[in-house]
Amino acid sequence: MEDDRSAVTGRVAAAVVAAGTLATTVGVANGFGSTGPTIIPLAAGADLALAVTGQPAATQSPQTVHAVSPGLEAAKLMRSEGLVARQHVDQAIKHASDGYTARQAELKRKQEAEEAERARIAAEEEAKRPKAVKPAQGTFTSGFGGRWGTTHYGVDIANSIGTPILSAMEGTVVEAGPASGFGLWVRVQHADGTITVYGHVNEILVAQGQHVAAGAQIATMGNRGQSTGPHLHFEVWAGGSQKIDPVGWLAERGISL
Ligand SMILES: [Zn+2]
Repeated sequence: MEDDRSAVTGRVAAAVVAAGTLATTVGVANGFGSTGPTIIPLAAGADLALAVTGQPAATQSPQTVHAVSPGLEAAKLMRSEGLVARQHVDQAIKHASDGYTARQAELKRKQEAEEAERARIAAEEEAKRPKAVKPAQGTFTSGFGGRWGTTHYGVDIANSIGTPILSAMEGTVVEAGPASGFGLWVRVQHADGTITVYGHVNEILVAQGQHVAAGAQIATMGNRGQSTGPHLHFEVWAGGSQKIDPVGWLAERGISL
């Protein structure tokens, strides 16, 4: 409206309102002062009306106020403007919504790719992990079979107290605690039903029911029970009960004592 002031001269002023959609002619009885008229929209929206007030210069000429109601054409224009504006808003919302959907889809793709990569790495590590390990490092001191008039149902690996004892294969701890002759033992059952036995241990590091990986430390070497020095007594029970020579069983899995 500021720019319109200079255009208001003499008796006629044209005021353009509503972004050029509605024009009306306002007649003024006499000249205005240097400041010109002030055009005040009386109301916004459908009930559009204009008032032009003037500040008389010298004479006390009356100010004229014309209130104009928009005609049918103007109303139509405004309605269509409203529709266009509404359309723009709808489009803006749709664009924003589309952008959000696209970003969410991209995020989901990224997460799925990361998940697939993690699964691939896990599978790779699983494949690299040994299926069987030597249950303890040390000196092979006694084999499976007859010994001193009895049968020795396992192998002995001697080392210092505290030497780590590892689960020879992946499995579930079925027993961890005291055992006659062994002092303390741990028994682990494997997927095919075979049980491996770890006797004379000093400390038990697992609990019954615990799942253990091949090579997981389950105990430390000790000298408990009927033992003549710190060592691991290791047995293999095929099918969970038949005691077999651990040397052959380990050799089948690539482990030599
Ligand atoms: Zn033994």
